[in-house]
Amino acid sequence: MAASTHTVTNQAPPLAGYDVFTSDLALAEAVERHLAPELLAEVREELGLLGRATGSTQVREWGEQANDDPPRLRTHDRYGRRIDEVEFHPAWHRLLGRSVSAGLTDAWGRPGGHVRRAAGFLVASQAEAGHGCPVSMTHAAVPALRAEPELAAVWEPAALSHVYERELRPVAEKPGVLLGMAMTEKQGGSDVRANMTEARPLAADGEYVLTGHKWFCSAPMSDAFLVLAQAPAGLTCFLVPRVLADGSRNAFALQRLKDKLGNRSNASAEVEFDGTTWAHRVGEEGRGIRTIMGMVAATRLDCVLGSAALMRQAVAQAVHHASYRSAFGGLLVDKPLMRNVLADLAIESEAATVLGMRLAAAYDAGTPEELALLRIAVPAAKYWVTKRCTPLVAEALECLGGNGYVEESGMPRLLRESPLNSLWEGSGNVQALDVVRALRTEPAALDALLREVGAARGADHRLDRAIRGLLVELADLEGIEARARRLTERLALVLQGALLVRWAPPEVADAFCAARLGGDGGAAFGTLPHTLDLRAVVERARAEV
Ligand SMILES: Cc1cc2nc3c(=O)[nH]c(=O)nc-3n(C[C@H](O)[C@H](O)[C@H](O)COP(=O)(O)OP(=O)(O)OC[C@H]3O[C@@H](n4cnc5c(N)ncnc54)[C@H](O)[C@@H]3O)c2cc1C
Repeated sequence: MAASTHTVTNQAPPLAGYDVFTSDLALAEAVERHLAPELLAEVREELGLLGRATGSTQVREWGEQANDDPPRLRTHDRYGRRIDEVEFHPAWHRLLGRSVSAGLTDAWGRPGGHVRRAAGFLVASQAEAGHGCPVSMTHAAVPALRAEPELAAVWEPAALSHVYERELRPVAEKPGVLLGMAMTEKQGGSDVRANMTEARPLAADGEYVLTGHKWFCSAPMSDAFLVLAQAPAGLTCFLVPRVLADGSRNAFALQRLKDKLGNRSNASAEVEFDGTTWAHRVGEEGRGIRTIMGMVAATRLDCVLGSAALMRQAVAQAVHHASYRSAFGGLLVDKPLMRNVLADLAIESEAATVLGMRLAAAYDAGTPEELALLRIAVPAAKYWVTKRCTPLVAEALECLGGNGYVEESGMPRLLRESPLNSLWEGSGNVQALDVVRALRTEPAALDALLREVGAARGADHRLDRAIRGLLVELADLEGIEARARRLTERLALVLQGALLVRWAPPEVADAFCAARLGGDGGAAFGTLPHTLDLRAVVERARAEV
């Protein structure tokens, strides 16, 4: 008889069957803080429903399936006609349907819309990040569309709709649509002024045909795209639908899908416009960058929220594992050094969540002061939060030991996803340079930021010193381009510190100020001063099972 050696002991149970929203105290508190009291009961219920579904075994499985069986390009139908469609695993459609029906494309114009949507996006992305791309772009396209009121009247209600319908049909026949964006070309992504796609005006006002090629176009099965192209008066924004009003297909040739590091559930295509591709102008000719920036600013905030989601999920998994796994005679979570690592990860995750939710609330407020804050704080947050995501996820993966390196743990998928938010929608340098642009051209933006951090002045001496240091940096703009990352990092850290000092429990704010602002922490995670209340920080980050 073979010896029975396969006894499973000392392995953590899966983190499943929990409420991803309610168990995230930093997020739940942010929702309470930023929403009007009369909305709270309804939103708590809505997010709790989404949180329980997201934490369920079933939705987790959908996330795995959608990534294990990635999308396939179908250029032609069985009769040889071009269709340019993408075939997805059914789990992808379920994930998308769930997020759309939860209102994650519906923020503009409903009370507290941005805060409730941001919280929902942060929750839903924890089960699967890839489907967040079309959700985010559909939400973000609305302000750009509004530059052309007649188009917005048709497309906006369908974008805000809570109905997901995957078939490509004319917008008039669809209860809900998805929208995407195609700016990047082979010769230039960050520098979109280098776009070569040409737009030739037709006789009808606002109508054009496009000729050109887009090098990255994600979620290409969406119903329409905001596209930049060179019109007679310069770079212009256009809406390019996949299906025309008469039901025929617009020329939108998907040349191939990218084979990507992560984000594998989502398709990213190369697209050709063949000279007959019909487009409608959005906004004035020659004002394309300004028009599409309304969309880009909103997707940039979603990069912050998406990274906050990856971080939160990684921390929840790490704390969970360490709470069940024993080594050297005790639970990992009780080992002082592991506690330090987990606490350090937890404060980073909380800082990301608090900042992302604060910026969502600024969208809801919509006052000139809050919009000025967004102008500088969104690129700063996009730069810093997304940059912190990969090291955090890598460290959280290590907390699971060898199990963390194995696909079944879900950690490799989080890690592969983690660099993306820093790259797309403007990579790191582009964000830092945008912060500098805001400093140079929009004095109200810096005023708004200083007002925001000023609200926490006097509460922590390390924060106060960091604010003074920032002011010194800002006083001299000599060599500012080369200093842009350094300045942006400081700005983001001071902002995060100020928000935590005002709103987080003292142990979290204390640890953050010591390590991130006071210089009492190292480059790697797990280097917080040992005298802090690290146990309380870790307990707060625990996801209930
Ligand atoms: C998975 C994925 C999906 C995508 N989906 C879409 C999509 O749906 N639609 C779309 O339009 N695009 C999409 N993109 C493209 C993405 O937005 C671009 O790749 C990104 O903006 C960078 O542009 P680029 O690749 O041309 O790199 P470049 O612009 O060549 O940049 C290369 C590097 O140079 C740096 N750099 C650029 N300018 C400066 C400067 N002045 N000073 C210092 N450094 C600088 C950048 O920060 C970057 O690190 C996607 C990309 C990926 C990876």
